Amino acid sequence: MPQDSEPLPAGIYLVATPIGNLEDISFRQKRILENCDLIACEDTRRTGLLLSRIGIKKPLLSYHEHNERERAEQISEKAKAGGRIAVVSDAGTPGISDPAYRVVRAAVDKGVPVVPIPGPSAAISALVASGLPTDRYVYEGFLPQKGERRWRRVEALLEEERTVILYESPHRVGRLVDEISKRAPGRPLAVARELTKLHEEILRGTASELAGQLKGKAVKGECVLLIGPKRMEEKAS
Ligand code: SAM
Repeated sequence: MPQDSEPLPAGIYLVATPIGNLEDISFRQKRILENCDLIACEDTRRTGLLLSRIGIKKPLLSYHEHNERERAEQISEKAKAGGRIAVVSDAGTPGISDPAYRVVRAAVDKGVPVVPIPGPSAAISALVASGLPTDRYVYEGFLPQKGERRWRRVEALLEEERTVILYESPHRVGRLVDEISKRAPGRPLAVARELTKLHEEILRGTASELAGQLKGKAVKGECVLLIGPKRMEEKAS
């Protein structure tokens, strides 16, 4: 593995970035962003803002869900030709409910080194602070937004014996907690909101308690919903 003093070898660097708090940028993330040739990012304005805050100026290339396929080829080819390419997403760890998978796949297929540069991810931050078991967990990302598929997935997840981690938009999280409370009122849940930011909040309780707390409230900011294992469900007496 390259050390601080060595020049950066060619390859793809998956650089995690803060999920809200700029202080979460690491020395290593900064060094890679400073020393790479190009940064592939979802939104050039957003990444441009992060870079200007940490005093870095670099060429940016947009890489998002709509051009992922062709960009994956271009980016991995550039790295194969000797380029040092950093891949970032808007926030958190690239590839976790964010683009990166295709570029990693293309790089692996071409024999190009892929180097993870670890850092924040909302899923793991929420899990460790939730108070729910951390020994076995399952990351489910975003549920289907509506319809039969959404509720079938929720029902399957309520059978889980591992802690379930879900990403959910603030305007849907109240309804989701309410639906869970109808199916499993005693199930322990946690809603982690605005992690690492000024208004960070983690609500913990049974599904029916949290449904009561969220009822009629406009939830603001980004959220992670965690569902405790089935065995932890409190039975109504
Ligand atoms: N790649 C990112 C990661 O590693 O966490 C996730 C990207 S995904 C498109 C964005 C979702 O992550 C949001 O809708 C929310 O569910 C969750 N999220 C991101 N930042 C968050 C934060 N500061 N607090 C709570 N949830 C957050």
